[in-house]
Amino acid sequence: MAKPLTQFVCSACGATHKKWGGRCDACGEWNTIVEEAPLSTGPGAKALGGKKGKGMALTDLATEERPPERDGSGIAEFDRVLGGGLVSASATLVGGDPGIGKSTLLLQAAASFAQAGLKVIYVSGEEATAQVRMRAQRLGLGDSPVKLAAETNLREILTTLDAERPDLVVIDSIQTMWLDTVDSAPGSVSQVRAAAHELVSFAKRKGVSVMLVGHVTKEGQIAGPRVVEHMVDTVLYFEGERGHQFRILRSVKNRFGPADEIGVFEMTGGGLAEVPNPSALFLSDRNERAPGSVVFAGIEGTRPVLVEVQALVAPSSLSQPRRAVVGWDGGRLSMILAVLEARVGISFQGLDVYLNIAGGMRISEPAADLAVAAALLSAREDSALPATCVVFGELSLSGALRPVAQAENRLKEARKLGFSSAIAPEGCKITDGADMELKLMPDLARFTGDIFGAG
Ligand SMILES: [Zn+2]
Repeated sequence: MAKPLTQFVCSACGATHKKWGGRCDACGEWNTIVEEAPLSTGPGAKALGGKKGKGMALTDLATEERPPERDGSGIAEFDRVLGGGLVSASATLVGGDPGIGKSTLLLQAAASFAQAGLKVIYVSGEEATAQVRMRAQRLGLGDSPVKLAAETNLREILTTLDAERPDLVVIDSIQTMWLDTVDSAPGSVSQVRAAAHELVSFAKRKGVSVMLVGHVTKEGQIAGPRVVEHMVDTVLYFEGERGHQFRILRSVKNRFGPADEIGVFEMTGGGLAEVPNPSALFLSDRNERAPGSVVFAGIEGTRPVLVEVQALVAPSSLSQPRRAVVGWDGGRLSMILAVLEARVGISFQGLDVYLNIAGGMRISEPAADLAVAAALLSAREDSALPATCVVFGELSLSGALRPVAQAENRLKEARKLGFSSAIAPEGCKITDGADMELKLMPDLARFTGDIFGAG
C-alpha cells in the first residue's frame, strides 16, 4: 500500500492546501500553514457496494416537536448565552485568548451545574488536580460535588466517562487532548479535530453534554478553536481586554438558541461575577458632555446595551495620517470618513483619527454608524452632544440614514438609564417612544447641519 502523502493544513481555520505558503487563502492568516499527516478520509473513501442497509425513518414537518430540555446553571448570564440553559447531549465550544479566564468561568459553571443536581466531571489537561482544587477553593467552590481528573489521553477519558455516565463533562482544553490512533502531536489540526470528533460523537451517543475549552492561539503550531467550530452545537467566545475587569461571553453559533447573545461578567477576587445591567457598567466612568463622546444605543443578541463611542481628532505630522480603531471595524471607519467627506463636505485630511469603544466592548452592529459619525464630528468641531442624548442609525454610502431593528427597545433601555433624548433615522418604526424626545433625521447632511451647524 502506498504511504499517504503529507498535506498542508491551516491551523487557524483548518483549510487544506496542496503546498506550503506564507498566508492561508481561506482565512487570510499569516504563518499558520503547517505540514501534517493526512486526516482520515473516513468511511466515505470506500464505495458502499451493492449491499443494502436498514433504511431510515421519515417524518413530516408538521410533527409536534417538544423544545429541548434544559438545565439551568443558576448563573443567569451563562444560561442566557446558552439560549436558556444547557441542552442535554449537546456539545459546546468555549474559545478565547489564553489567560482570559475560561477555566475560571467553566469551573464556576461546572460547580453551579453540580450544585443544581447534575453529575459533572471536569477533566483538565493543562493543570494537575491539586491546582484545579486550589482554584476552586479560591473561588469558594471547594465543597461543590464536581469530580476532577487530570488526563490528556482520550482513550482513558472516554473509558471513564462511559463507566461514570455524567450529565456534563468539561474538557480543559481540547488542544491538550490526544488520540493514540492519530499519528501527530497534541495540538495539531489532526489531533484537535479527531479528539473533538470523538468527544462530540460520544456526547450524542451516550447523552452526555460536553463543554470544550479552546485557546485562541497566535502561532501556527497549535490549532485554534475555529478548526472544530463546525462540529459542535454551540460556539461561545470569551472576550475582554486583560487590563479591564469585565469579560463578555458571546455566542457566535447556537443550534438551540439565538446567536450573538452576550453575557457580561466582572473579574473579581472571588472569580467572575455576573453583571446584570451592562449598560450601567459600560457608561459608569463617562465624563459629562465631553467633545468626541457619544452614547450609542445598541442591541447585542436580544438585549439592548448602551456603550460610549469615543473619538479623538488631532492634526497629524504624518504624510499618511493615523487611523486607529479599538472595538470597531477599521474598514467601516474609513467608509464613514469617506461618506462625511463626499456627502457633507467635511474632510479629515491631515488629521489623525482615533476611535475607541469604551470599556473593552466590541461592536459589530452597523447601527453604530451614526454614533461613530457623531463622535467624529463632535471631536472635530470640538462641540459636545447633550449628555442626555443617545444616537443610533445605519449609514448608506449615499449619506442617507437607514432604519435599524428594535428601535423601541433601544429607546426603552436609554430611558431606563436616565437619558431623555435620541437621534435616530427617519424611517424607524416607533409607535412607543418611551417618553424620549426624538430627533428623526433623513440623512447625514441634515444631521450635521442640525446638530453641529456645520456642513
Ligand atoms: Zn486559514
